[in-house]
Amino acid sequence: MKRVLFFLFACLCVAQPPVKVKVVKAGRMLEVKSGQYVQNPVVVIENGRIKSVDAAGKIPDGAEVIDLGRATLLPGLIDCHTHLLQNYDMNLGGDDPNMLLTVGQMSTAKRALLGVKMGREDLEAGITTVRDLGNSGHNGDVALRDAINEGWVVGPRMLVSTRALAAAGGQFGGLNPIAQQLVEEEYAVVAGPDEARKAVRQAFYDGADLIKVIVNTGPRVLALDEMKAIVDEAHRVNKKVAAHAIGDLATRVSADAGVDSIEHAYTIPDDVLKTMAEKKIFMVPTDPRLEGMEDLIKTRYHMTDDQVANVMKQRNAAAKSRIDRAVKVGVRIAAGSDMYDGNPSWTRGFASLTVLESYAEGGMAPIEVIRTATVNAADLLGMTRTIGSIEPGKFADIIAVSGDPLTDIRELHKVTFVMKGGEVIRK
Ligand SMILES: [Zn+2]
Repeated sequence: MKRVLFFLFACLCVAQPPVKVKVVKAGRMLEVKSGQYVQNPVVVIENGRIKSVDAAGKIPDGAEVIDLGRATLLPGLIDCHTHLLQNYDMNLGGDDPNMLLTVGQMSTAKRALLGVKMGREDLEAGITTVRDLGNSGHNGDVALRDAINEGWVVGPRMLVSTRALAAAGGQFGGLNPIAQQLVEEEYAVVAGPDEARKAVRQAFYDGADLIKVIVNTGPRVLALDEMKAIVDEAHRVNKKVAAHAIGDLATRVSADAGVDSIEHAYTIPDDVLKTMAEKKIFMVPTDPRLEGMEDLIKTRYHMTDDQVANVMKQRNAAAKSRIDRAVKVGVRIAAGSDMYDGNPSWTRGFASLTVLESYAEGGMAPIEVIRTATVNAADLLGMTRTIGSIEPGKFADIIAVSGDPLTDIRELHKVTFVMKGGEVIRK
Protein backbone atom coordinates (compact mmCIF):
# COMPACT_ATOMS: atom_id res chain seq x y z
CA MET A 1 0.00 0.00 0.00
CA LYS A 2 2.82 2.35 0.97
CA ARG A 3 4.46 1.70 -2.34
CA VAL A 4 1.24 2.57 -4.17
CA LEU A 5 0.96 5.87 -2.25
CA PHE A 6 4.56 6.71 -2.99
CA PHE A 7 3.97 5.97 -6.66
CA LEU A 8 0.93 8.24 -6.75
CA PHE A 9 2.86 10.99 -4.97
CA ALA A 10 5.76 10.63 -7.39
CA CYS A 11 3.38 10.86 -10.33
CA LEU A 12 1.85 14.07 -9.00
CA CYS A 13 5.29 15.60 -8.43
CA VAL A 14 6.57 14.91 -11.97
CA ALA A 15 6.08 18.08 -13.97
CA GLN A 16 3.77 17.65 -16.96
CA PRO A 17 5.65 18.11 -20.25
CA PRO A 18 4.86 21.55 -21.70
CA VAL A 19 2.16 21.58 -24.37
CA LYS A 20 3.82 22.11 -27.76
CA VAL A 21 1.71 24.53 -29.77
CA LYS A 22 2.31 25.11 -33.46
CA VAL A 23 0.35 27.10 -35.99
CA VAL A 24 0.29 26.55 -39.73
CA LYS A 25 -0.86 29.55 -41.79
CA ALA A 26 -1.42 29.58 -45.54
CA GLY A 27 -3.28 31.30 -48.36
CA ARG A 28 -6.05 28.71 -48.47
CA MET A 29 -6.99 25.20 -47.39
CA LEU A 30 -8.96 22.57 -49.27
CA GLU A 31 -11.81 21.14 -47.24
CA VAL A 32 -11.88 17.76 -48.93
CA LYS A 33 -15.36 16.79 -47.77
CA SER A 34 -17.12 19.86 -49.18
CA GLY A 35 -14.63 20.42 -51.99
CA GLN A 36 -14.47 24.11 -51.00
CA TYR A 37 -11.50 26.32 -50.28
CA VAL A 38 -11.18 28.11 -46.94
CA GLN A 39 -9.24 31.36 -47.33
CA ASN A 40 -6.41 32.30 -44.94
CA PRO A 41 -6.68 29.27 -42.67
CA VAL A 42 -5.00 29.20 -39.27
CA VAL A 43 -4.45 25.63 -38.10
CA VAL A 44 -3.57 25.36 -34.42
CA ILE A 45 -1.76 22.17 -33.44
CA GLU A 46 -1.23 20.88 -29.91
CA ASN A 47 1.05 17.93 -29.29
CA GLY A 48 0.74 16.67 -32.84
CA ARG A 49 -3.05 16.91 -33.08
CA ILE A 50 -5.16 19.61 -34.70
CA LYS A 51 -6.76 21.78 -32.02
CA SER A 52 -8.66 24.22 -34.23
CA VAL A 53 -9.00 25.35 -37.83
CA ASP A 54 -10.30 28.87 -38.41
CA ALA A 55 -10.31 31.29 -41.31
CA ALA A 56 -8.03 34.16 -40.25
CA GLY A 57 -8.12 32.73 -36.70
CA LYS A 58 -6.22 33.96 -33.66
CA ILE A 59 -2.67 32.75 -33.01
CA PRO A 60 -2.18 31.51 -29.43
CA ASP A 61 0.55 33.21 -27.37
CA GLY A 62 3.91 31.46 -27.55
CA ALA A 63 2.99 29.27 -30.51
CA GLU A 64 5.59 28.39 -33.14
CA VAL A 65 4.22 29.86 -36.36
CA ILE A 66 4.84 28.20 -39.72
CA ASP A 67 3.76 30.70 -42.35
CA LEU A 68 3.42 29.11 -45.80
CA GLY A 69 2.47 32.34 -47.55
CA ARG A 70 0.01 31.81 -50.40
CA ALA A 71 0.29 28.03 -50.47
CA THR A 72 -2.72 25.68 -50.49
CA LEU A 73 -3.08 23.23 -47.60
CA LEU A 74 -4.41 19.71 -48.01
CA PRO A 75 -4.56 16.73 -45.67
CA GLY A 76 -1.64 14.29 -45.90
CA LEU A 77 -2.21 11.72 -48.65
CA ILE A 78 -2.94 8.04 -48.04
CA ASP A 79 -1.74 5.13 -50.20
CA CYS A 80 -3.98 2.13 -49.47
CA HIS A 81 -1.85 -0.39 -51.34
CA THR A 82 1.90 -0.37 -51.28
CA HIS A 83 4.90 -2.63 -50.73
CA LEU A 84 7.65 -0.69 -49.00
CA LEU A 85 9.82 -3.77 -48.50
CA GLN A 86 10.02 -4.55 -52.18
CA ASN A 87 11.73 -2.55 -54.93
CA TYR A 88 12.12 -4.51 -58.12
CA ASP A 89 14.80 -3.96 -60.70
CA MET A 90 12.96 -4.02 -64.00
CA ASN A 91 16.20 -4.72 -65.83
CA LEU A 92 16.05 -8.21 -64.32
CA GLY A 93 12.69 -8.94 -65.95
CA GLY A 94 9.19 -9.37 -64.56
CA ASP A 95 7.79 -10.25 -61.15
CA ASP A 96 8.94 -13.88 -61.03
CA PRO A 97 12.73 -13.40 -61.23
CA ASN A 98 12.54 -10.30 -59.05
CA MET A 99 10.54 -12.03 -56.35
CA LEU A 100 12.82 -15.06 -56.36
CA LEU A 101 15.93 -12.92 -56.02
CA THR A 102 14.38 -10.70 -53.36
CA VAL A 103 13.21 -13.59 -51.20
CA GLY A 104 16.27 -15.74 -51.88
CA GLN A 105 18.92 -13.09 -51.39
CA MET A 106 17.57 -10.52 -48.97
CA SER A 107 17.00 -11.12 -45.28
CA THR A 108 13.83 -9.71 -43.74
CA ALA A 109 16.06 -7.31 -41.78
CA LYS A 110 17.62 -5.95 -44.96
CA ARG A 111 14.20 -5.58 -46.55
CA ALA A 112 12.96 -3.64 -43.53
CA LEU A 113 15.89 -1.24 -44.02
CA LEU A 114 14.94 -0.92 -47.69
CA GLY A 115 11.47 -0.09 -46.39
CA VAL A 116 12.95 2.78 -44.35
CA LYS A 117 14.20 4.36 -47.59
CA MET A 118 10.97 3.74 -49.51
CA GLY A 119 8.86 5.02 -46.63
CA ARG A 120 10.94 8.17 -46.29
CA GLU A 121 10.53 8.86 -50.02
CA ASP A 122 6.76 8.36 -49.74
CA LEU A 123 6.54 10.70 -46.77
CA GLU A 124 8.62 13.43 -48.38
CA ALA A 125 6.30 13.30 -51.41
CA GLY A 126 3.29 13.95 -49.16
CA ILE A 127 2.10 10.39 -48.43
CA THR A 128 1.68 10.46 -44.67
CA THR A 129 -0.11 7.10 -44.27
CA VAL A 130 0.26 3.80 -46.12
CA ARG A 131 -1.35 0.40 -45.98
CA ASP A 132 1.43 -2.09 -46.67
CA LEU A 133 -0.01 -5.26 -48.18
CA GLY A 134 2.46 -8.10 -47.92
CA ASN A 135 5.71 -9.13 -49.60
CA SER A 136 7.63 -8.13 -46.50
CA GLY A 137 9.34 -11.40 -45.61
CA HIS A 138 8.54 -12.67 -42.14
CA ASN A 139 6.91 -9.65 -40.45
CA GLY A 140 9.40 -7.09 -41.73
CA ASP A 141 6.44 -4.74 -42.18
CA VAL A 142 5.61 -5.03 -38.47
CA ALA A 143 9.21 -4.15 -37.58
CA LEU A 144 9.17 -1.11 -39.87
CA ARG A 145 5.78 0.09 -38.59
CA ASP A 146 6.90 -0.25 -34.99
CA ALA A 147 10.27 1.45 -35.65
CA ILE A 148 8.44 4.41 -37.20
CA ASN A 149 6.00 4.56 -34.29
CA GLU A 150 8.89 4.45 -31.81
CA GLY A 151 10.57 7.33 -33.62
CA TRP A 152 13.67 5.25 -34.47
CA VAL A 153 13.24 6.08 -38.16
CA VAL A 154 11.16 8.61 -40.05
CA GLY A 155 8.35 7.27 -42.22
CA PRO A 156 4.62 7.36 -42.90
CA ARG A 157 2.00 5.94 -40.56
CA MET A 158 1.69 2.28 -41.50
CA LEU A 159 -1.03 -0.31 -41.37
CA VAL A 160 0.45 -3.70 -42.22
CA SER A 161 -0.86 -7.12 -43.21
CA THR A 162 2.15 -9.40 -42.54
CA ARG A 163 2.30 -12.32 -44.99
CA ALA A 164 -0.57 -12.43 -47.47
CA LEU A 165 -2.78 -15.52 -47.32
CA ALA A 166 -2.70 -17.43 -50.59
CA ALA A 167 -3.31 -20.76 -52.31
CA ALA A 168 -0.41 -23.18 -52.96
CA GLY A 169 2.61 -21.40 -54.39
CA GLY A 170 1.58 -17.89 -53.35
CA GLN A 171 2.32 -15.52 -56.23
CA PHE A 172 5.46 -17.34 -57.34
CA GLY A 173 5.62 -18.87 -60.80
CA GLY A 174 6.17 -22.64 -61.08
CA LEU A 175 9.10 -23.59 -58.86
CA ASN A 176 10.75 -26.93 -58.27
CA PRO A 177 9.92 -28.52 -54.91
CA ILE A 178 13.11 -27.34 -53.20
CA ALA A 179 12.67 -23.76 -54.36
CA GLN A 180 9.00 -23.91 -53.44
CA GLN A 181 10.02 -23.85 -49.78
CA LEU A 182 10.77 -20.16 -50.31
CA VAL A 183 7.05 -19.53 -50.72
CA GLU A 184 6.39 -19.80 -46.99
CA GLU A 185 8.86 -16.97 -46.41
CA GLU A 186 6.56 -14.65 -48.30
CA TYR A 187 3.01 -16.09 -48.11
CA ALA A 188 0.84 -17.95 -45.62
CA VAL A 189 -0.39 -20.83 -47.75
CA VAL A 190 -3.89 -22.03 -46.88
CA ALA A 191 -6.07 -24.91 -48.05
CA GLY A 192 -9.57 -25.21 -46.62
CA PRO A 193 -11.54 -22.99 -44.21
CA ASP A 194 -9.82 -24.30 -41.08
CA GLU A 195 -6.34 -23.44 -42.32
CA ALA A 196 -7.61 -20.09 -43.53
CA ARG A 197 -8.99 -19.26 -40.09
CA LYS A 198 -5.78 -20.42 -38.44
CA ALA A 199 -3.68 -18.24 -40.76
CA VAL A 200 -5.77 -15.17 -39.91
CA ARG A 201 -5.16 -15.74 -36.21
CA GLN A 202 -1.44 -16.25 -36.85
CA ALA A 203 -1.32 -12.95 -38.78
CA PHE A 204 -2.84 -11.10 -35.84
CA TYR A 205 -0.44 -12.88 -33.48
CA ASP A 206 2.40 -11.67 -35.73
CA GLY A 207 1.18 -8.08 -35.45
CA ALA A 208 -1.02 -7.56 -38.52
CA ASP A 209 -3.43 -4.61 -38.57
CA LEU A 210 -5.48 -6.22 -41.34
CA ILE A 211 -5.54 -9.29 -43.58
CA LYS A 212 -4.36 -9.40 -47.18
CA VAL A 213 -5.48 -12.33 -49.25
CA ILE A 214 -4.37 -13.30 -52.73
CA VAL A 215 -7.66 -14.66 -54.05
CA ASN A 216 -6.25 -15.72 -57.38
CA THR A 217 -2.94 -16.39 -59.08
CA GLY A 218 -3.29 -18.02 -62.48
CA PRO A 219 -5.76 -20.90 -62.18
CA ARG A 220 -5.34 -21.14 -58.38
CA VAL A 221 -8.39 -19.44 -56.88
CA LEU A 222 -9.50 -19.58 -53.24
CA ALA A 223 -13.00 -20.98 -52.73
CA LEU A 224 -15.97 -19.18 -51.20
CA ASP A 225 -15.87 -21.21 -47.96
CA GLU A 226 -12.19 -20.30 -47.51
CA MET A 227 -12.87 -16.62 -48.17
CA LYS A 228 -15.86 -16.63 -45.83
CA ALA A 229 -13.74 -18.12 -43.05
CA ILE A 230 -11.07 -15.44 -43.57
CA VAL A 231 -13.58 -12.57 -43.54
CA ASP A 232 -15.49 -13.97 -40.57
CA GLU A 233 -12.36 -14.47 -38.50
CA ALA A 234 -11.05 -10.97 -39.26
CA HIS A 235 -14.36 -9.15 -38.84
CA ARG A 236 -15.02 -10.96 -35.56
CA VAL A 237 -12.15 -8.92 -34.10
CA ASN A 238 -12.96 -5.74 -36.07
CA LYS A 239 -10.15 -6.12 -38.57
CA LYS A 240 -10.42 -5.60 -42.31
CA VAL A 241 -9.71 -7.81 -45.29
CA ALA A 242 -8.06 -6.59 -48.50
CA ALA A 243 -8.49 -9.00 -51.42
CA HIS A 244 -6.20 -9.16 -54.43
CA ALA A 245 -8.67 -10.28 -57.10
CA ILE A 246 -8.75 -10.09 -60.88
CA GLY A 247 -11.41 -11.47 -63.19
CA ASP A 248 -14.92 -12.86 -62.83
CA LEU A 249 -14.35 -15.77 -60.44
CA ALA A 250 -11.96 -14.12 -57.96
CA THR A 251 -13.78 -10.78 -57.71
CA ARG A 252 -17.12 -12.58 -57.30
CA VAL A 253 -15.86 -14.82 -54.50
CA SER A 254 -14.37 -11.78 -52.76
CA ALA A 255 -17.53 -9.68 -53.03
CA ASP A 256 -19.77 -12.58 -51.97
CA ALA A 257 -17.58 -13.24 -48.94
CA GLY A 258 -17.86 -9.56 -47.97
CA VAL A 259 -14.25 -8.38 -48.00
CA ASP A 260 -13.60 -4.69 -47.30
CA SER A 261 -11.71 -3.87 -50.47
CA ILE A 262 -10.99 -5.49 -53.80
CA GLU A 263 -7.51 -4.59 -55.01
CA HIS A 264 -6.64 -4.27 -58.72
CA ALA A 265 -9.84 -5.74 -60.26
CA TYR A 266 -8.32 -5.11 -63.69
CA THR A 267 -11.22 -7.11 -65.10
CA ILE A 268 -14.50 -7.35 -63.22
CA PRO A 269 -18.09 -7.99 -64.34
CA ASP A 270 -20.86 -5.41 -63.89
CA ASP A 271 -22.93 -7.53 -61.50
CA VAL A 272 -19.94 -7.89 -59.15
CA LEU A 273 -19.50 -4.11 -59.22
CA LYS A 274 -23.16 -3.85 -58.19
CA THR A 275 -22.61 -6.24 -55.27
CA MET A 276 -19.60 -4.15 -54.22
CA ALA A 277 -21.70 -0.98 -54.23
CA GLU A 278 -24.46 -2.66 -52.22
CA LYS A 279 -22.04 -4.07 -49.64
CA LYS A 280 -19.96 -0.85 -49.56
CA ILE A 281 -16.83 -2.72 -50.66
CA PHE A 282 -14.11 -0.36 -51.84
CA MET A 283 -12.26 -0.78 -55.09
CA VAL A 284 -8.55 0.02 -55.00
CA PRO A 285 -7.57 0.40 -58.67
CA THR A 286 -3.82 0.10 -58.98
CA ASP A 287 -2.96 1.56 -62.35
CA PRO A 288 0.09 3.81 -61.96
CA ARG A 289 1.03 5.94 -64.93
CA LEU A 290 3.09 4.13 -67.54
CA GLU A 291 4.22 7.35 -69.24
CA GLY A 292 7.80 7.90 -68.18
CA MET A 293 8.42 4.15 -67.76
CA GLU A 294 8.66 3.29 -71.47
CA ASP A 295 12.33 2.33 -71.37
CA LEU A 296 11.88 0.10 -68.35
CA ILE A 297 8.89 -1.66 -69.91
CA LYS A 298 10.88 -2.20 -73.10
CA THR A 299 13.73 -3.86 -71.21
CA ARG A 300 11.50 -5.83 -68.92
CA TYR A 301 9.28 -7.37 -71.56
CA HIS A 302 11.71 -7.27 -74.51
CA MET A 303 9.38 -5.05 -76.54
CA THR A 304 9.83 -2.64 -79.43
CA ASP A 305 8.77 1.02 -79.17
CA ASP A 306 5.58 0.29 -81.11
CA GLN A 307 4.67 -2.63 -78.88
CA VAL A 308 5.17 -0.53 -75.77
CA ALA A 309 3.02 2.29 -77.20
CA ASN A 310 0.30 -0.22 -78.05
CA VAL A 311 0.32 -1.85 -74.61
CA MET A 312 0.12 1.56 -72.94
CA LYS A 313 -2.82 2.62 -75.10
CA GLN A 314 -4.73 -0.58 -74.34
CA ARG A 315 -3.93 -0.45 -70.64
CA ASN A 316 -5.01 3.17 -70.30
CA ALA A 317 -8.27 2.52 -72.15
CA ALA A 318 -9.04 -0.55 -69.99
CA ALA A 319 -8.30 1.35 -66.76
CA LYS A 320 -10.49 4.25 -67.84
CA SER A 321 -13.49 2.08 -68.72
CA ARG A 322 -13.26 0.08 -65.50
CA ILE A 323 -13.10 3.13 -63.23
CA ASP A 324 -15.95 4.65 -65.21
CA ARG A 325 -18.15 1.55 -64.76
CA ALA A 326 -17.32 1.30 -61.05
CA VAL A 327 -18.07 4.95 -60.30
CA LYS A 328 -21.33 4.81 -62.29
CA VAL A 329 -22.79 2.04 -60.12
CA GLY A 330 -21.63 3.75 -56.92
CA VAL A 331 -18.51 1.77 -55.96
CA ARG A 332 -16.29 3.90 -53.76
CA ILE A 333 -12.69 4.23 -54.84
CA ALA A 334 -9.70 4.38 -52.50
CA ALA A 335 -6.25 5.20 -53.86
CA GLY A 336 -3.60 2.50 -54.05
CA SER A 337 -0.40 2.53 -56.07
CA ASP A 338 0.74 -1.09 -55.72
CA MET A 339 4.17 0.42 -56.28
CA TYR A 340 7.09 -1.96 -56.10
CA ASP A 341 8.99 -1.20 -59.31
CA GLY A 342 12.16 0.80 -59.01
CA ASN A 343 12.44 3.65 -61.50
CA PRO A 344 15.89 5.28 -61.38
CA SER A 345 14.51 8.69 -62.33
CA TRP A 346 11.66 8.77 -59.81
CA THR A 347 11.48 8.54 -56.03
CA ARG A 348 9.11 5.94 -54.59
CA GLY A 349 6.81 8.77 -53.55
CA PHE A 350 6.68 10.29 -57.01
CA ALA A 351 6.06 6.90 -58.63
CA SER A 352 3.28 6.10 -56.14
CA LEU A 353 1.43 9.37 -56.77
CA THR A 354 1.20 8.71 -60.51
CA VAL A 355 -1.80 6.49 -59.76
CA LEU A 356 -3.80 9.65 -58.99
CA GLU A 357 -3.12 10.94 -62.47
CA SER A 358 -4.45 7.73 -63.96
CA TYR A 359 -7.70 8.16 -61.98
CA ALA A 360 -8.02 11.67 -63.41
CA GLU A 361 -7.39 10.31 -66.88
CA GLY A 362 -10.05 7.71 -66.09
CA GLY A 363 -12.58 10.54 -65.94
CA MET A 364 -12.69 11.38 -62.22
CA ALA A 365 -12.87 15.07 -61.29
CA PRO A 366 -9.81 16.34 -59.36
CA ILE A 367 -11.78 16.65 -56.09
CA GLU A 368 -12.93 13.03 -56.44
CA VAL A 369 -9.34 11.94 -57.07
CA ILE A 370 -8.19 13.83 -53.96
CA ARG A 371 -10.93 12.14 -51.93
CA THR A 372 -9.67 8.68 -53.00
CA ALA A 373 -6.38 9.48 -51.25
CA THR A 374 -7.87 11.25 -48.23
CA VAL A 375 -11.40 10.78 -46.86
CA ASN A 376 -12.22 7.60 -48.82
CA ALA A 377 -8.89 6.05 -47.92
CA ALA A 378 -9.31 6.97 -44.24
CA ASP A 379 -12.71 5.28 -44.31
CA LEU A 380 -11.28 2.10 -45.84
CA LEU A 381 -8.52 2.07 -43.23
CA GLY A 382 -11.04 2.55 -40.40
CA MET A 383 -9.27 5.79 -39.44
CA THR A 384 -11.86 8.48 -40.15
CA ARG A 385 -11.40 9.90 -36.66
CA THR A 386 -7.66 10.42 -37.00
CA ILE A 387 -6.68 11.05 -40.63
CA GLY A 388 -8.05 12.05 -44.05
CA SER A 389 -8.95 15.70 -43.45
CA ILE A 390 -7.71 18.80 -41.62
CA GLU A 391 -10.15 18.89 -38.72
CA PRO A 392 -9.93 19.33 -34.94
CA GLY A 393 -8.97 16.14 -33.12
CA LYS A 394 -7.12 14.57 -36.04
CA PHE A 395 -3.38 14.07 -36.43
CA ALA A 396 -1.69 17.13 -37.89
CA ASP A 397 -0.87 15.38 -41.17
CA ILE A 398 -0.77 18.33 -43.54
CA ILE A 399 0.77 19.00 -46.95
CA ALA A 400 0.94 22.11 -49.11
CA VAL A 401 1.18 22.85 -52.83
CA SER A 402 1.69 26.15 -54.59
CA GLY A 403 -0.83 25.70 -57.44
CA ASP A 404 -4.48 24.68 -57.67
CA PRO A 405 -5.02 20.92 -57.32
CA LEU A 406 -8.71 21.34 -58.16
CA THR A 407 -7.81 22.34 -61.70
CA ASP A 408 -4.72 20.17 -62.15
CA ILE A 409 -4.24 17.00 -60.14
CA ARG A 410 -0.55 16.98 -61.11
CA GLU A 411 -0.04 19.69 -58.48
CA LEU A 412 0.07 16.80 -55.99
CA HIS A 413 3.36 15.84 -57.57
CA LYS A 414 4.84 19.13 -56.45
CA VAL A 415 4.28 19.09 -52.72
CA THR A 416 6.31 21.86 -51.06
CA PHE A 417 5.54 21.18 -47.40
CA VAL A 418 4.90 18.01 -45.42
CA MET A 419 3.94 17.70 -41.78
CA LYS A 420 3.22 14.40 -40.04
CA GLY A 421 1.77 14.39 -36.56
CA GLY A 422 2.79 18.00 -36.07
CA GLU A 423 6.44 17.38 -37.07
CA VAL A 424 7.72 19.18 -40.15
CA ILE A 425 9.17 16.63 -42.57
CA ARG A 426 9.77 18.91 -45.51
CA LYS A 427 9.61 22.64 -46.00
ZN1 LIG B 1 0.23 -5.37 -54.41
